[in-house]
Amino acid sequence: MTLRTNSPIAMNRRHWIASMAGGAAAEAAFSEHLWAADNPGVRVEDRSSSIRITKLTATPAGRKVFIKIETNHAVTGWGEIDQLDPNVAAMLVRSLFELLDGENPTRIEHLWQKIYRSHRDIRGGSFMVHTIAGIDMALWDIAGKLWGVPVYRLLGGPSRDKVWVYPSLRATKVGAGPMPFSGSPQQIERLVASIASGRKQVGPDGIVMFDAHCALPPPILLQFAAAVKAYEITYIEEPAVPGNIEVFKRLKQQISIPFAVGEQARTIWDVVPYLEAGIADFMQVDCAHTGGMSQLRKIATLAEAYQVPLTPHCVTTDLGMTASLHVSASVPLFFIHEYYPSITPKGLIDKGWEVDKDGYASLPTRPGLGCSIDEARLAEVARQPIVPEWPKHGRHPDGSIADY
Ligand SMILES: [Mg+2]
Repeated sequence: MTLRTNSPIAMNRRHWIASMAGGAAAEAAFSEHLWAADNPGVRVEDRSSSIRITKLTATPAGRKVFIKIETNHAVTGWGEIDQLDPNVAAMLVRSLFELLDGENPTRIEHLWQKIYRSHRDIRGGSFMVHTIAGIDMALWDIAGKLWGVPVYRLLGGPSRDKVWVYPSLRATKVGAGPMPFSGSPQQIERLVASIASGRKQVGPDGIVMFDAHCALPPPILLQFAAAVKAYEITYIEEPAVPGNIEVFKRLKQQISIPFAVGEQARTIWDVVPYLEAGIADFMQVDCAHTGGMSQLRKIATLAEAYQVPLTPHCVTTDLGMTASLHVSASVPLFFIHEYYPSITPKGLIDKGWEVDKDGYASLPTRPGLGCSIDEARLAEVARQPIVPEWPKHGRHPDGSIADY
C-alpha cells in the first residue's frame, strides 16, 4: 500500500514529527522523505499481497488425512493430519475452512492464531492441534512456492547441510510394551537383552535409544535403568505418562540416563513444564502433533534456551516428514530425526530428498515443502478400507488396560 503524502494519516505523522524534531526545517529534511510515495520503504506490496485462499480439500487416505489448499494465484499447498481418526479429522478441517476462506495464505502465524483462538472452548488438545498442524504445513508450502524457495529459506536458512535420521546404520531405537507395575529379574533381563542387541547392531560409535512408550511403570523403569548402565543409552523416551510433572521429577532424581520428552506435547504451552523442571534432555516433539512447522520452530527456540536439542518424533508419511525436515534444517540446536519410509504408500509422494548410507537426509531443494503428490494415486489409496489402528496389545495379563 502506498501512503499518499496529503492523506490525513501522513499529515498527522508529519505534524507529530515536526513537533518532535523541533520545526519545519526538520520536517522538510526528514518527514517528507520518510512518508514520500517514492520511498521504497512505504511500498509493502509484493507477490503475496493479492493471493487469497479459495478452496480446501481434505482426503482421508489410510490412517492420514491429506489437505490441499488452493488459491486464486494457482499456487497450491499440501499438509498432513496424523494420528487422528481420519474421517473425524477430515470433517474437522473442512469445518475450519470458513476461517480460511478468502484469507491471505502467507499470513501463516495470523491464521494459526485465528483458528487456535477462535474456538476458545475447544482450544488445544489433539483433535484441534493436529488438524491445525496440517493446515500450517499447507500454508508454509504455499508461501515457499509463491516466493520460489524451499521453506527453510523462510525460516532463517539452513543451519546444517544435512539432517541425521534414524533408524539408520549407526542409530537405532528399542521399544517396550506394557509391563506390570514391578518387574521380575527375567522381565528386566529381556529388556536388557533387547538393548544389548541394539548396541551390537550399531557398534560402539553408534547410538541406542530406548522408547518406554509411557508403558513402563516407575518401579520398572528404575530397575531397567540400573540394569542397562553399561550399554550407554542415549536417552529414554516417554519415561512416564504425561500429566504430572512430579512423576518425571521423581524419576529424574533417580535415573542418570537422559530423558526425551514431548511426543504427546501440543503447542509451546505443553513443553514449558518439562523445560522449567529440567526434565527434558531431548525435545522429542512431533511437527504433526504439536501444531505444525510454526509451533515446532517456536518449541525448538524455547528448548535452545535450555540447551535441549530438537529430536523430532515422526510417524507421518513423507509429506509430514518433509515439513518437519524443513524446520530441523533451520534450527541451530538439533540432534536426530525419526523417519520410517515404509509409512508412505508406494507411488504417492515424490519427496525430493534422499537419505544417504550414513543416515543423513539431504535438504529439499524445490520451492515450498518440495513434495509432489500424485493425486490419482491418492484417490486410489483413499478408496482402500482403513485398517483400525487402535492398539489391541495394550493389555496386562489380567485384562486391565495398559497405556500403550
Ligand atoms: Mg515414542
